[in-house]
Amino acid sequence: MYYSNGNYEAFARPEKPADVDKKSAYLVGSGLAALAAACFLVRDGQMKGEHIHILEELSIPGGACDGINDSQKGFIIRGGREMENHFECLWDLFRSIPSIETEGASVLDEFYWLNKKDLNFSLMRATVNRGQDAHTDGKFGLSEKASMEIVKLFMTLEEDLYDKKISEVFTEEFFSSNFWLYWRTMFAFEEWHSALEMKLYIQRFIHHIGGLPDFSALKFTKYNQYESLILPMVKYLKSYGVKFQYDTTVTNVIFDTKNDKKIARKIVCQHEGKEECIDLIEDDLVFVTNGSCTENSSLGDDNNAVEVKTSGGGCWELWKNISKQDPSFGHPEKFCTDTKATNWESATITTLDDKIPPYIEKICKRNPFSGKVVTGGIITVKDSKWLMSYTLNRQPHFKEQPKDQLVVWVYGLFTDVPGDYIKKPMRECTGIEITEEWLFHMGVPESEIHDMATNSAHCIPCMMPYITAFFMPRTKGDRPDVVPNGCVNFAFIGQFSNTVRDTVFTTEYSVRTAMEAVYTLLDIDRGVPEVFGSCYDIRVLLDSASKMMDGKKLIDKKLPFILRLVKKKVLKKISGTVIEDMLKRYNII
Ligand SMILES: Cc1cc2nc3c(=O)[nH]c(=O)nc-3n(C[C@H](O)[C@H](O)[C@H](O)COP(=O)(O)OP(=O)(O)OC[C@H]3O[C@@H](n4cnc5c(N)ncnc54)[C@H](O)[C@@H]3O)c2cc1C
Repeated sequence: MYYSNGNYEAFARPEKPADVDKKSAYLVGSGLAALAAACFLVRDGQMKGEHIHILEELSIPGGACDGINDSQKGFIIRGGREMENHFECLWDLFRSIPSIETEGASVLDEFYWLNKKDLNFSLMRATVNRGQDAHTDGKFGLSEKASMEIVKLFMTLEEDLYDKKISEVFTEEFFSSNFWLYWRTMFAFEEWHSALEMKLYIQRFIHHIGGLPDFSALKFTKYNQYESLILPMVKYLKSYGVKFQYDTTVTNVIFDTKNDKKIARKIVCQHEGKEECIDLIEDDLVFVTNGSCTENSSLGDDNNAVEVKTSGGGCWELWKNISKQDPSFGHPEKFCTDTKATNWESATITTLDDKIPPYIEKICKRNPFSGKVVTGGIITVKDSKWLMSYTLNRQPHFKEQPKDQLVVWVYGLFTDVPGDYIKKPMRECTGIEITEEWLFHMGVPESEIHDMATNSAHCIPCMMPYITAFFMPRTKGDRPDVVPNGCVNFAFIGQFSNTVRDTVFTTEYSVRTAMEAVYTLLDIDRGVPEVFGSCYDIRVLLDSASKMMDGKKLIDKKLPFILRLVKKKVLKKISGTVIEDMLKRYNII
């Protein structure tokens, strides 16, 4: 497996790998990573579909990428995916997956056309005082000290950030900035999360710094991601004869290790209450999704709070059993043992009549029923004790959604502190209570809140104990490599496997690890697109530096006398050169 960039490799089709017709594949999980791996096996590996077996513990595919219209509870989205144009592996895949909406188009075409016609941007990034504009006004509000802390983190070597928390690399000046408000609510970072992950995010998305305050950096699918991404992949795979086996929990993969060669020899699983084993030969490839951010997630309803399940979970048990067999298989306990630090709760609110929509329209400044961008990303309630944010994607968000209903996604980063209107922690609240807290922050008169929450909306709360497990501080080897050293027929895929430079909590990471796994195990002779190299592009670095300073020129910064002299000399030296031209173009001087 090697990385590449540019059109030469992007449009090339690899030759059929040697002996692929003799090979089979077993994929554990049917989330985006496993489905993507199956698609790459079919498309680039040219493996026969009927040789590919997907084993899933649940009764539906898609994993974290959900969107359910439950006959009892109604519409449910545990989350929504902010996406961007430089999800290189993901778009490489979806250019080949036919859309199920538009005849003759790919999923990429459909997404591209939609986001070209209807640009995403926000007209209200944050509110205070019950629905008033918090006037972040597109500004980052970083002091010089806070800016320098970001620059320092960007420059720090990865190994120097092993096991370090964000709180260890930033000071209060940074934490009180708009930058941190945008950042933590958009990506769900907390102060106790990994400083390394934060560095990787800054590096990975440096080309989007300017589009961070108003979300013009983001793009979204037409419907929820189950309908817009997962269903087309499942249809594609089924058309090739790929076999899906649900209600099957894999409990272990047994390895044979000889002279540093590691061969997966047996898959052990539970199916219909019985233990079953699949014996493997070297030509049987195994791809395991180790860990899941939605493992043990639980739903409440209008009248019931969520049940918090904090122990066990098929994905963790499986990874623990595998990791016992070799040090290169990672350390799951680093990620799955502190649910206090890794949980948060979301809620899907469906509005049922015309009472709530005017409040939404007043805040987001768009007609929520237009079929176009509504909030254009999350709106954060800056003064909410739960640190609540909410969003409405283009409506309908479900294909079957009635035209007069709206589906709203709400989440709170702090689930264990009492709210501002409902004096209970979010995790103890029923759907109605969560809606009440939300309506309070939307500016609904207190006398109307209870009636509206009870009769004009449905709310399904969802607790996710491991939602930010991949952000826990980590060191080398905690995440196993996609193909650990010596493995000949086994790979880890998804958010807890390790690849270079990319960032977890993204759909791209799942697809990237899948692509790397398939290309390595089948020795596919085509480059995997490298992570977009914007952090090595001087133009992007200059542009983002200027934007982070809210447009102030670096040249205008107050400097000590001696540095002023140096500056004068440097400016003279670069005068009339391409360097001066570039510094001017990007608003540095
Ligand atoms: C609330 C939320 C918000 C998000 N926001 C964004 C965003 O803005 N942008 C973005 O790009 N991404 C976002 N993501 C992340 C993205 O959706 C996930 O990273 C991605 O879908 C994970 O896919 P996966 O296949 O790697 O893992 P998962 O989807 O977790 O799949 C794992 C699968 O394996 C199954 N499984 C686990 N253990 C076993 C076992 N022992 N046996 C059999 N099956 C097993 C599980 O049931 C599951 O189906 C978000 C996710 C959530 C939940």
